[in-house]
Amino acid sequence: MSSLGAEIRDQFPILQQEVNGHPLVYLDSGASSQKPRSVIEAIKHYYEWDHSNVHRGVHTLGSRATDAYEGARDKVAAFLNARHREEIVFTRGTTTAINLVASGYARSVCGEGDEIVLTPMEHHSNLIPWQQVAKATGATLKYIPLQPNGTIDLADAEKTITDKTKIVAVMYVSNVLGVTNPVKDIAAIAHRHGAVMLVDGAQSTPHMKVDVQQLDCDFYAFSGHKMCGPTGIGALYGKKELLENMEPIEFGGEMIDRVDLYESTFKELPYKFEGGTPIIAGAVGLGAAIDFLTDIGMDRIHEHDTHLAKYAYERLSQIHGLTLYGPRDNRTGLVTFNLKDVHAHDVATVIDQEGIAIRAGHHCCQPLMRWFNVNATARASFYLYNTEDDIDRLVEALKHTEDFFN
Ligand code: PLP
Repeated sequence: MSSLGAEIRDQFPILQQEVNGHPLVYLDSGASSQKPRSVIEAIKHYYEWDHSNVHRGVHTLGSRATDAYEGARDKVAAFLNARHREEIVFTRGTTTAINLVASGYARSVCGEGDEIVLTPMEHHSNLIPWQQVAKATGATLKYIPLQPNGTIDLADAEKTITDKTKIVAVMYVSNVLGVTNPVKDIAAIAHRHGAVMLVDGAQSTPHMKVDVQQLDCDFYAFSGHKMCGPTGIGALYGKKELLENMEPIEFGGEMIDRVDLYESTFKELPYKFEGGTPIIAGAVGLGAAIDFLTDIGMDRIHEHDTHLAKYAYERLSQIHGLTLYGPRDNRTGLVTFNLKDVHAHDVATVIDQEGIAIRAGHHCCQPLMRWFNVNATARASFYLYNTEDDIDRLVEALKHTEDFFN
């Protein structure tokens, strides 16, 4: 049994409280993770000692803030194993990163007759931007179909991706099914057809070692708040040659080189994509989160989170009238389910009375919900501070809910 949760739980102040008279069991990290003291302290220290605007102040605080911000970029680059630090563009998160590629890259390469390939399990953030590109350019959206258990068969990817494909955008880990998709193999198929591959890393980056060079993806997007960092910061990784040829989508201060009254030039990478005063404290917090995760070790975190998902799957499958969605194996950090005849929102509301936080709804995956033929599901998602005891408490609370409604 993995002891990581018990070992590090004390470092998360928010987890020390009671909710509705019970010790809090937080099982909603898939939506947003909690923050360790080191991350909270890093942000506090930054504001108490180092804050200033970046890249322009010649005074001491200006250079300290710049060092802190650019230091965080180095940490992200190392964490993803990017070849160059300028391949990391800070964004507000995954959604903004994907929108940057959709608006800055896809709109200029897609046209009538071209195809953008997705899967039906994509989060709305990796779906709507492409719908907008399709509308604006005349390109067509195509979907790699799912197997009955919600996984992707590479033979289907082979059939769906063709010479007409310009972009393939797929999530690495599903926020509903918990499955890890074969994005490296899909990227290889995309490249054989001259298409670029974007990976939505919102649910993979918190849980596993990510190596963008090994995946050979062209773009990779993630959010800091799901991996112990603060809200409002994430990043886009893009291969240098692609980013160099890509248009900025936000214009103004910070991203310019020379400005004249009728014409201006833009800075080099990555600054041409970071218009306006950047998210400095957010980047500092993200850097501290990366230090925290790296010190524990991503392999250990992955082992822990997959173990908890497996344990939860086994325990929940023993509850009468409970349906689990997605495959039994190959899940990272979450289980998705419904209790017979009880709406997922009711399940979440009732177990909140026992201090247990889970998510209920469509999880920003409405097409996938329709594919399951449901309106909503409940989801328990796990992270490095959770324990088997947390899952035992969930199971007990679900049994009480079952008894209460039936
Ligand atoms: N993609 C996936 C798979 C997600 O789970 C999420 C968030 O839940 C997102 C994208 C969007 O992330 P953000 O809201 O941080 O931009």
